[in-house]
Amino acid sequence: MKTNNLGYPRIGSNRELKKASELYWAGEISAEELVEVGKEIRRQNWQLQSLAGVDLIPSNDFSFYDQVLDLTLTLGAIPERYNEFANTNSSLDLYFAMARGAQKNGQDVVAMEMTKWFDTNYHYIVPEFTKNQKFALFSEKIINEFKEANDLGIATKPVLIGPISYLLLGKEKEEGFDRIDLIDKLLPVYFEIFEKLQAQNVEYIQLDEPFLALNLTDKERKTFTEVYNEINIRFPRIKIILANYFDCFGENLETVLALPVHTLHLDLVRCPAQLDDILESGQLAPSVSLSLGVVDGRNIWKNDFKHSLALIQKATAALGENRILVAPSCSLIHSPCDLDLETNEATLTPEIKQWLAFAKQKINEIVLLKQFASNEVATKTSADFEENTVANENRKTSKLIHNNEVKNRVAGVTSADDQRKNVFAVRRKTQAEVLNLPLFPTTTIGSFPQTAEVRSWRAKLKKGELTTQEYNDLIKKETEATIRFQEETGIDVLVHGEFERNDMVEYFGEQLAGFTFTKNGWVQSYGSRCVKPPVIYGDVSRPNPMTVKWSEYAQSLTNKWVKGMLTGPVTILQWSFVRNDQPRSVTCTQIALAIRDEVVDLEKAGIKIIQIDEPAIREGLPLRKEEWANYLDWAVKAFRISASGVKDDTQIHTHMCYSEFNDIIQNIADMDADVITIECSRSQMELLDAFANFKYPNEIGPGVYDIHSPRVPSSQEMVRLLEKASAVVPVDQLWVNPDCGLKTRHWEETKKALVEMVAAAQQMRLML
Ligand code: GLN
Ligand code: ZN
Repeated sequence: MKTNNLGYPRIGSNRELKKASELYWAGEISAEELVEVGKEIRRQNWQLQSLAGVDLIPSNDFSFYDQVLDLTLTLGAIPERYNEFANTNSSLDLYFAMARGAQKNGQDVVAMEMTKWFDTNYHYIVPEFTKNQKFALFSEKIINEFKEANDLGIATKPVLIGPISYLLLGKEKEEGFDRIDLIDKLLPVYFEIFEKLQAQNVEYIQLDEPFLALNLTDKERKTFTEVYNEINIRFPRIKIILANYFDCFGENLETVLALPVHTLHLDLVRCPAQLDDILESGQLAPSVSLSLGVVDGRNIWKNDFKHSLALIQKATAALGENRILVAPSCSLIHSPCDLDLETNEATLTPEIKQWLAFAKQKINEIVLLKQFASNEVATKTSADFEENTVANENRKTSKLIHNNEVKNRVAGVTSADDQRKNVFAVRRKTQAEVLNLPLFPTTTIGSFPQTAEVRSWRAKLKKGELTTQEYNDLIKKETEATIRFQEETGIDVLVHGEFERNDMVEYFGEQLAGFTFTKNGWVQSYGSRCVKPPVIYGDVSRPNPMTVKWSEYAQSLTNKWVKGMLTGPVTILQWSFVRNDQPRSVTCTQIALAIRDEVVDLEKAGIKIIQIDEPAIREGLPLRKEEWANYLDWAVKAFRISASGVKDDTQIHTHMCYSEFNDIIQNIADMDADVITIECSRSQMELLDAFANFKYPNEIGPGVYDIHSPRVPSSQEMVRLLEKASAVVPVDQLWVNPDCGLKTRHWEETKKALVEMVAAAQQMRLML
């Protein structure tokens, strides 16, 4: 039996890579210095795993930005617009130009597109393919890193994305071809890499093919068969580990079981049933080993050794120890680095801390599991096993987790709780009378610029350099100035600006029971950007109002309506580490009830318009289509529960960004928000078509300008977009707003852009 790690976090336990990359981009350190930081992180990661006793230690899991971009560079699939950078001798500058865009010799080169890695919050750089796409070995990173580890005396297992998933991850940049057909041009470069690795005496190569967890076409499945047969014919001596993760093989299982690979890696956290399916199928060739992904690479909970050992023993009984590898469910890049660095007992209490494991601890878990399963160490006498059992027992019964009041409330939810009093058509009339808004009402999505100054107040409050009173006064001043600005600009529905919030999930998590926070639990989101998701460990409730004071204050300053601003239950769930001892749907319902309490309290405080943001509803979609209906059912219900405690004349808004709505438009309509605002401007209102074709019945605010750029659009541009929108959506259903919140913008461009936006709405009214 062996242990097999799929990938280790490369950001460094103290985000060394983030800090060094940003210094390099700012011109403050040299390329050599940055390269040195990367090398040191690799050395530490390899040595940590080697000392822990991991058998198959990954290499090429390091990346300065993203592993898909690394592969694009390796395969020489460099889009033409970077030619100028490709010809210089700094491959690092070429690499970062592709990742982030660059300006050189007065020319602006835009970055490659970035998108989410399956259902994670990690973003990868999307490969771009043309009809006559060529591939040629361009970077030898994978070979160099293998040698680098060898020099340290560590024989590693190079990891790379398999050829089919690589093609499927990309995008066709012109019409008239299917990217999967590029496989014949692509494979020779993979073979060249394998040859070079073989010359270095490589034993194992891990090929990640996460698309095997998705619904594939027959043609794609056939390509899998052909490609892996060919690899086997050419490189019979290399032990290929085919890694799938994040879901089951589903209808691809039969194809997979016929592939001539050395080892199949299974994600038994996401799909535990898979092990039985494979063992009972009788179709696993006697030469194939199984890598059992029993330690959750996507979450922060300590493994349950008893549970994992039962799975491993079942597999061992069927296949024999020699054909078993013990592994995390997926690469550990989705886990924070090291729990030992969490020393702040005030936020992460010792009781909760004993339930957790980060990447470094997960490495120890796979090693221990192997020792137990192969009887190298007896569980009976092992202190580690005892500690694991005690921690898991404690977690099951802890008072910190279980709140009967919350459980009873969830059990008592009825279908009346997710229904507004009346249907939209009725509510709409009442709201129109009370709110008295013009056609094309203008509003914003919630946040106004979070300047360095505003953030410095929060830092000072934390350090004790400002009292709560002083901090609140500063935030109030900023809020008042923002209200005045909106009044002067002539915006119809105002917001308070969200200056008191560090982050749209963290702010709520800090005030909800059942949440805790880490000090250093960073996970890479994209490039140098890391996120520190809150940890939902227990039943969620809302001890006290969270936003009422701020909304009430803002409303007291003006005769215009001020919109209350909340984050929705699905988004709070999606952007946190979630408990694994109950279904996500139950946790989501608990959050929904907490948000509902807040909505009702806002209404009581006189707030007539309340926005419940759900930007993450689409990214929560399961990978396999057959699981969509179930998810959408509970996710939409959770939103409705949060929104349905109010009277007809209270107007509920929701907001969603970066979403393709076509395939879920019915579900979005089922959310039944009175008004929805969506990101639209970069697609020139194309995203609105889904709503128009569906004849979306409620009101809708398609974003009229892109807030991701400092550029100030003219009112003319926005009028053109609004005309486009008016052509497909009845004008009395339309709102006018930016694409998203303004917190990352500066005041200067924000002010100018909003003046233009109000002018655009006025012109639209005149044209009627
Ligand atoms: N209300 C939030 C804001 O304006 C919404 C952010 C989001 O959709 N991501 O910042
Ligand atoms: Zn948004």
